[in-house]
Amino acid sequence: MKYIVASLSLILAVNSTDTLAQEDAKQYELATPPACFNNLGEAVEYRERTGGGLKVAAGMANRDSEGKPFIIRMNYVFSPKEFQRFIDRHECAHHQLDDIDRPHPPRNSPEHLMNESIADCIAIIRLRDEETDGEEKFNAVSSAMRVDMAKIGFPEISISSRISNIENCFLRNGSYRDFIETVKQRRKEQ
Ligand SMILES: [Zn+2]
Repeated sequence: MKYIVASLSLILAVNSTDTLAQEDAKQYELATPPACFNNLGEAVEYRERTGGGLKVAAGMANRDSEGKPFIIRMNYVFSPKEFQRFIDRHECAHHQLDDIDRPHPPRNSPEHLMNESIADCIAIIRLRDEETDGEEKFNAVSSAMRVDMAKIGFPEISISSRISNIENCFLRNGSYRDFIETVKQRRKEQ
């Protein structure tokens, strides 16, 4: 059975908060997804979805039954554009790092959480390097992350540790591609 890599562990949370009342959810314009190729050089396809009870954006990376790599953009219309762009790059990172095809660590295990932090890190570095005003984008991502995670019911400690991780990554030297290579090298040595 294929393991599904879920962004922000949002998918996990969606089921438990289905009943959360959310009238007047604000809607946003959809961001254009970035080019994404997995570690085998295969083009990754983006697919839009809406639904579920929770009106926050979530992403999911996987392969379909024909083996085609894809990213689901779930409810993107309910989160600001910068956060949509961050999630796209986070999900793309799972494809770039082969997280989809490698044997998968148990959900919420330290190894799984490490994979999530790494994907977050790649996403924020990539966003920083693509933008003329990276700092403004960082602030947009972190405030949307705060709002959406709180909406889902994440405790403050999870929210602030996730934001502090992307903050450290944002300040890193080197491109996101350098970081991907570093992670691959580290994994080889393990
Ligand atoms: Zn993820």
